[in-house]
Amino acid sequence: MEAEALAPVAETPQPLFFVGARGDSPAEALIAEARRRRASHIHIETAPAAMIVRMRIAGQLTEPRHYHADPALAAEFSALAGAAILTQGEGERIVLRIDGGEQRERALEAIGMSRTLVDALLPALRRGGLVLIAGAPGAGRSTTIAALLRHFSGSPRHIVTIGTPPVEGATRIEGLAGAAAIRAALEQDPDIIALDGLDGREAAAAAAEAAESGHLVLASIDAPDAVSAIRRMRDWRVEPFRLASTVAAVLAQRQVRRLCAECRRPVQAQGSVSALLGFDSGAIVFEAMGCESCEGTGFTGRTGVFEAIVADGAIRRLINDGGDEAILARHAFLRAPNLGSAARALVREGVTTPEEAVRISRG
Ligand SMILES: [Zn+2]
Repeated sequence: MEAEALAPVAETPQPLFFVGARGDSPAEALIAEARRRRASHIHIETAPAAMIVRMRIAGQLTEPRHYHADPALAAEFSALAGAAILTQGEGERIVLRIDGGEQRERALEAIGMSRTLVDALLPALRRGGLVLIAGAPGAGRSTTIAALLRHFSGSPRHIVTIGTPPVEGATRIEGLAGAAAIRAALEQDPDIIALDGLDGREAAAAAAEAAESGHLVLASIDAPDAVSAIRRMRDWRVEPFRLASTVAAVLAQRQVRRLCAECRRPVQAQGSVSALLGFDSGAIVFEAMGCESCEGTGFTGRTGVFEAIVADGAIRRLINDGGDEAILARHAFLRAPNLGSAARALVREGVTTPEEAVRISRG
């Protein structure tokens, strides 16, 4: 673990203050906060006169928060199973690992999302609204919905699913589809509605309305990329203001074959492929000849390639004003990778082959 000096005590220690504690003990409230923020650890440093709280979120320790010394809270934490306690100076450092947070985030990385994408996506999911997952059937959309829902398993949220494979702890609507299924889901008073296969004007309107009324709505949609998913919603005449105000994120995905890690090896990319992918001549890529562990194929399964439009003020304005798709794409992918550049990055990393990336880029 990191060996940091005890941070200085703030001039005016802040009182412990927990939002929405609902009678929880301070320790429970702190753990609830850590879970909400997807922290992997809580660090508490105690000193005779003060207490410092930090959390590890997305691999980074947060800024220290200074509080009055609270021996009862420190004792409660020390008594928790899994708490690691180290004496330092006149106080202690108590580190508590939060189960699940990291593990759930890894579920998204396991299906091929980059850390950067996960970090951009999770705050949008927590705010609620409409999250579209674009892709052809068979592109892994239902796996993505299941991985996103795993983020909320264990937290007290009521999940209702429509057309998805069974999700642990979720209520499943059966025998209904589209708008009727969404209405039935709403009657269940859900926090989250997950729908695999948004397929028409009525369903799109119902999904947008459900998102507007404060639910997190995850819906897969048959579209080749994120901007096309927005176009499809426009084609279904979801009102621009409604789409603009409810959309939280639009994901799109494809699948590429994953190179066998046992037998892949670096080679110089062929000129023709380099040109298609925009690589420099002589760029290093990977190929695999096949071995026992990949049964001679050179590949072990598939991984998702993702792009995401995470709604910000400018994206919402562009959607509201009926903005041109090229402008929308340019803004959305100014800093974030689109499907093509995400696939090229996977080639560079040796996850897949240039040929797979070319196949993706051609739709
Ligand atoms: Zn192999």
